[in-house]
Amino acid sequence: MLDNLSSRLGQLAKTMRGHARLTEDNIKDALREVRMALLEADVALPVVKDFVASVKEKAMGQEVLGSLTPGQAFIGVVNDSLTELMGKQNDALNLAAVPPATILMAGLQGAGKTTTIGKLSRLLKNDQKKKVLVVSADVYRPAAIEQLRLLADQVGVEFYQSNSWEDPVQIAKDAQDYAKKHFFDVLMVDTAGRLAIDEVLMEEIQKIHAAINPIETLFVVDAMQGQDAVNTAKAFDEALPLTGVILTKMDGDSRGGAALSVRHVTGKPIKFIGVGEKVDGLEAFHPDRLASRILG
Ligand code: GDP
Repeated sequence: MLDNLSSRLGQLAKTMRGHARLTEDNIKDALREVRMALLEADVALPVVKDFVASVKEKAMGQEVLGSLTPGQAFIGVVNDSLTELMGKQNDALNLAAVPPATILMAGLQGAGKTTTIGKLSRLLKNDQKKKVLVVSADVYRPAAIEQLRLLADQVGVEFYQSNSWEDPVQIAKDAQDYAKKHFFDVLMVDTAGRLAIDEVLMEEIQKIHAAINPIETLFVVDAMQGQDAVNTAKAFDEALPLTGVILTKMDGDSRGGAALSVRHVTGKPIKFIGVGEKVDGLEAFHPDRLASRILG
């Protein structure tokens, strides 16, 4: 995914050798390498700037301890900064609610919301033995409701029938009432997304959120979005009290930089990554693995 930063830094480390401290002077080239690696991985520019500034601040004047070379000490600082940004462990899905634990999916059209509902409901059903109901409040895209119905069939969870002439807020409420009455553990609500950020739709999803009070509000974002991921994440984070992020299409050419960008902008944990089009293409996100992929 990201270029092997440590091999690049390995070269530089030789020139840093013999210094007892990391100074502005001897880390200049190393910081440039970090900056380049992050930009190549499609991390958004403002995020790269903040990140590099924070690495610099932490590194400057740091003593090079014991057996460490200055290069190793610098890599340690980069690693710490990544962990600080991304968190240490995977953040699990929070289902601690009076049933049904309601999960609202938000994101642009094509981000992968519907597909991810199929994947996640399959996981909850198979691994956690949950009784899952799914519903689509996307009344704008003709095939959206049918797409979710097919996925629900495929993974063997129940589908709540909605119709394109109904009000999306009412659909979500009705599905929640149904889920309560029929003792579902989890309700997953799909929503409409446009190709770009759209105020009318943002208002609609805010109303849905207020009506059903979900325990999880997950922002689904396409890792291939690269630099744009920042603006989309900002808009959704301002509109909704997001509880987590799902980064889709991590199996593609994307170099994963969107993970850093979205985390930096929203401060919310990435809970899962999508790694394929099929219903089994979902994995828990492990920040430490991302860090080690960056550092090589
Ligand atoms: P929605 O508009 O947000 O509901 O997006 P969809 O769920 O319809 O997904 C849009 C496209 O992205 C579909 O062709 C999906 O198969 C594809 N997709 C979703 N998640 C992934 C993923 O993790 N990997 C890959 N390769 N494709 C994905």
